[in-house]
Amino acid sequence: MTPASDDLRFGVAGIPHSCPGNSSLRAIDYLVSIGLDALELEFVQGLKMGQETAGQIKIKASQLGIKLSAHAPYFINLNAEDPGQRMRSQDLLLNSLRLAASTGASDLVFHAGYYGRKTPAETYSRIKDSLKDILSISRLEKIPARLRIETMGKRQQFGSLDEVLSLCRELDGLSPCLDFAHILAREGKINSYRDFSQVLRKVEKKLGRRALSTAHIHISGVIFNQHGEIKHINLDESEFHYDDWLQAVFEAGIKGTIIDESPAREADALRLKNLYLNLQEKGTRAEPGHNRHDFLDTD
Ligand SMILES: [Zn+2]
Repeated sequence: MTPASDDLRFGVAGIPHSCPGNSSLRAIDYLVSIGLDALELEFVQGLKMGQETAGQIKIKASQLGIKLSAHAPYFINLNAEDPGQRMRSQDLLLNSLRLAASTGASDLVFHAGYYGRKTPAETYSRIKDSLKDILSISRLEKIPARLRIETMGKRQQFGSLDEVLSLCRELDGLSPCLDFAHILAREGKINSYRDFSQVLRKVEKKLGRRALSTAHIHISGVIFNQHGEIKHINLDESEFHYDDWLQAVFEAGIKGTIIDESPAREADALRLKNLYLNLQEKGTRAEPGHNRHDFLDTD
């Protein structure tokens, strides 16, 4: 069995294809048996999980040491034209956060919405107002799960790296989910050790060291065109330079969770975890006391 890395956990989004039985409870057992340590529960098609199941998942994951996060429904749009739809999206996001918390998930990832007919600046301010309300209710209810706004891969979606980092800086209680496949697809670049290091440095500069020591990251292969992401593919079939990316993650001393979203997610997550453990074993990271950023600057 692959040893756990306490600093950085590797896991998958949803129930792995090779998992016997189609339930999150079975998935937790299965992930432990193959040596992974995190699971992102998918509420992406709606909030269908009952409280009883949520409670069972919470107990099992904590007993077996699987770190849980969750992903909110895809159809949330905090910038919908129709005010009723915006309110429903707010409700849905809040209920997703409550449900995530009852499973023991520490984080809830969500897609904020689409620009539609609005400018990026108008969209930003509307989504910010919406999230302010949600964060305020979350604080009142003391919901222990953290909201994570995801960097998005399609250019019609709100969620460039800069938009996400600015919102997280402005809104207390909001954190990023950094999806590097999406960043590559949206920008059409960001695919070298230097690029990845620069992204991580930007996150640290905007949000502080804590954003890197409690990071939540999505990864997969990706194909894209001038409009951004087309679909996720396996790491080895993709032009995404995942070995350079992992080196940058390692050198920057990232802690937190990495969730693989490739079609063959469990195999890719294990591949990344094993590569990471090799890096750790070789111990090539700059020692504390050296200037880590100088180290990152050397390509
Ligand atoms: Zn997502």
